[in-house]
Amino acid sequence: MSNKILISPPHISGAEKKYVLDALSGDWISSKGKYIDSFEKKLQFHINQNKEVVCLNSGTSAIHLALKQLGVQENDEVICQSFTFAATAFPVLYQKAIPVFVDSEPDTWNICPVLLEKAIKNRIKNGKKPKAILAVHLYGMPYKIDEVQRIATTYNIPVIEDAAEALGSSYNNVPCGNFGQLAVLSFNGNKIITSAQGGAIVCNTTKEKENFIHWATQAKDNLPFYHHSSVGFNYRMSNVLAAIGLAQIENLHKKINLRRQVYFRYFSELDKDLFDFQKESENSFSNRWMTCILTISRAEKEKLLKTLINNGIEALHLWYPLHKQRVFKEFPSFINGTSEHLFNRGLCLPSGSKLTANEYQKIVAVLKNYKP
Ligand SMILES: *Cc1c(COP(=O)(O)O)cnc(C)c1O
Repeated sequence: MSNKILISPPHISGAEKKYVLDALSGDWISSKGKYIDSFEKKLQFHINQNKEVVCLNSGTSAIHLALKQLGVQENDEVICQSFTFAATAFPVLYQKAIPVFVDSEPDTWNICPVLLEKAIKNRIKNGKKPKAILAVHLYGMPYKIDEVQRIATTYNIPVIEDAAEALGSSYNNVPCGNFGQLAVLSFNGNKIITSAQGGAIVCNTTKEKENFIHWATQAKDNLPFYHHSSVGFNYRMSNVLAAIGLAQIENLHKKINLRRQVYFRYFSELDKDLFDFQKESENSFSNRWMTCILTISRAEKEKLLKTLINNGIEALHLWYPLHKQRVFKEFPSFINGTSEHLFNRGLCLPSGSKLTANEYQKIVAVLKNYKP
């Protein structure tokens, strides 16, 4: 074991072991069981009691089924925020559809409404109206909800809200997960709460929920023998992992407070002439899943990254814009340079909810010592 300070390690601090042992002592350890039901109920409680939540084996699977539900098929176009993790866009390719990348705006670092509208107009002129918009609350920061919603409504295109990093964030006191036609969560090991691996889809009706469960459990027809009328997936969450998720979500508010404290401490202690931060707007509340800083130049970013790593502190580049990546290069994109600028300047700092005072002091000492 190294004593490297990690960027966002899992924080196990509640009833995880107890619930897992209990789940293992029953007969339901796989795609059914009381922990899946309870975890889904808790997620509903935190997002919206009038919504339905379906737990799946990953956020990526959730995006895949969301696209399928919206009827995205071969050669359809789907607008996708370029500044994000590749898992936002990969499922578009699973459906053999075409991602159309849209750059960010500098306030929230998320999809730029002006470019979004330009992209939609261009694709419609080209003869193909996009089937969906994948918008992301990057690092927990809500995207420009009002603007994106207005455009989506104007052109009647459904939004899939990638809230993988944003459980507990909100806009006008409405939790993220409420703004898309469908929304997606992730409980991967590095997220604000984890079920080791897992994700969820937030939808509007029990009928939709039943349909998602049907697809996620191999699309078995309701017959006494195994018979299938359509292609299924093995995407459901296991009851054992839901037990971890349930214990984690019982501490969601604590974890959000801890992550926000980490952010505020960096913000208050670092030199504002050297570092810039992702800012909350008046109406938005970020869970501060990740504290990211912008340095004054690409060379300085590289220098600082090396210094941190040499001091046993994990730091990471921001997401590399998808439109620049080889796997996505052939697809259309609408670019204003923001995501590339952010990538050139930005770093993620250790932001986990179990960061200790000693670890924090060590990081801040390195950052305060750094001179461009
Ligand atoms: C983590 C993440 C995903 C994918 O979630 P998994 O559970 O790891 O499949 C999708 N989008 C974003 C923005 C993410 O951060």
